[in-house]
Amino acid sequence: MNYDVIIIGAGPAGIFTALELIKKQSGKKILMIEKGKPVDRRHCPKAEVGYCVQCKPNCAITTGFSGAGAFSDGKLSLSREVGGDFPSLVGEDFAQELIDYTDKIYLEFGADTKVEGIYEGDEIKLIRKRAIKAGLKLVDCPIRHLGTEKAQQLYLNIQDYLLDHGVEILFESECENILLENGRCCGVYVKERSTQRTITGEHIVIATGRRGADWLEKVCAENGIAHQPGTVDIGVRVECRNEIMELINKVLYEGKLIGYPKPWKNKVRTFCQNPGGFVAQENYDNYLAVVNGHSYKDLKSSNTNLAILVSHNFTEPFNQPIAYAQKVGELTNMLGAGHILVQRYGDILDGKRTWAKELSQSNIQPTLKDAVAGDITAAMPYRAMTNIIEFIKMLDEVVPGFASDETLLYSPELKFYSNKVKMDQNLNTNIKGLHCLGDSSGWTRGLMMASAMGVLMGRKLLEEEK
Ligand SMILES: Cc1cc2nc3c(=O)[nH]c(=O)nc-3n(C[C@H](O)[C@H](O)[C@H](O)COP(=O)(O)OP(=O)(O)OC[C@H]3O[C@@H](n4cnc5c(N)ncnc54)[C@H](O)[C@@H]3O)c2cc1C
Repeated sequence: MNYDVIIIGAGPAGIFTALELIKKQSGKKILMIEKGKPVDRRHCPKAEVGYCVQCKPNCAITTGFSGAGAFSDGKLSLSREVGGDFPSLVGEDFAQELIDYTDKIYLEFGADTKVEGIYEGDEIKLIRKRAIKAGLKLVDCPIRHLGTEKAQQLYLNIQDYLLDHGVEILFESECENILLENGRCCGVYVKERSTQRTITGEHIVIATGRRGADWLEKVCAENGIAHQPGTVDIGVRVECRNEIMELINKVLYEGKLIGYPKPWKNKVRTFCQNPGGFVAQENYDNYLAVVNGHSYKDLKSSNTNLAILVSHNFTEPFNQPIAYAQKVGELTNMLGAGHILVQRYGDILDGKRTWAKELSQSNIQPTLKDAVAGDITAAMPYRAMTNIIEFIKMLDEVVPGFASDETLLYSPELKFYSNKVKMDQNLNTNIKGLHCLGDSSGWTRGLMMASAMGVLMGRKLLEEEK
């Protein structure tokens, strides 16, 4: 074997696996394979040109060392209640212990010591009372906010630490498949620019993130890795003025609210709130453009954005949730000529598209400058759209003014967590030597939970040895 451990994907899940192995002085020979660039060479040209130039072969926002995390807002959710189903795999209390431990590592590498969302004054009581009245659950979640620019420095510190401690990282190299021999996973097929080669390893850890979710689904199907279709989230990114969100921004930083609007009572939730933030575009390999949001620690806009996501679980015979969400995204992209679509909430209720001129007349100006004014309802499935409208009405009771005519809805906001890989609590799949982590495994959906799962992976690889 060339390596003791091969980690595919240098996002938080993969990084924290390597970190834990180094910290525990495992002496293991570790290789990380990452299709993007080192964190200090990740650069999005949009900052200069003002629009997305569809970088090839990879988008710098979602690939490269630190994964989707480096260019993200970097909000570390410190509660096991937020960030995915990983706690149900390993136990709630243990998951919280792992989160607390992982948080200390983030602090060691330079995270801000301030924790948001732990305020307990009268204003929080008021927000909770309004939420209860509206039929929404307010989830308590302390948050450590790294900030987009600070997150990059923090992950650069980690990248340097791993390299200084002997971890080899193959950048701009893509894992194409896994190598199986006698039912055991013992290596990977890798494409480095135009060359292809096989690298062998004792343990293969796949941590390819959301971006690698559909690739992993194919790998699972081809190689008999036990998995089940999971949830996909379809929704919108909502943007309104900071004044509207003032109370919730001040008291909670991120208001995590969950509801089950009539008539279907599907789970609908807020996600990734960015006070003073910016709406952003992400591009997937298959040319899909989806919307997201982030915020800087210092540079602030006049707006707050957050996602409203509707969870979709399908029943037999349908088993392609990722493909379903992609189709919704493709249709929306088609209507926006490849751009993100934006529409005013009032226009949705009035059954009309939004025009660019109308946007310019509002109090709120879109922070995603190249979003195209149009009609998101022409591509959004009826059920998802109704859920979103009903949920916005409920939110308006908690945040008066949220359901204003001028509130902006960007689409498509899609989260591909699907394809849950079946694993035991030691993070073993049904294929010996193969482990799956983080967002691509379907067990996490956030920076902290993916990092904590990585820590556990490092520990399990050490236990194997004993
Ligand atoms: C704009 C944005 C903002 C976000 N904000 C937050 C936030 O504030 N808080 C929060 O908790 N979460 C946030 N998230 C989500 C968070 O970034 C992810 O949940 C987290 O990064 C998942 O970690 P991961 O290690 O599982 O995967 P990722 O971070 O996605 O990393 C996977 C890595 O694998 C690489 N890869 C994929 N396929 C291959 C392959 N075949 N071969 C080699 N390499 C491959 C990718 O290039 C990537 O670098 C945000 C995401 C985005 C995009």
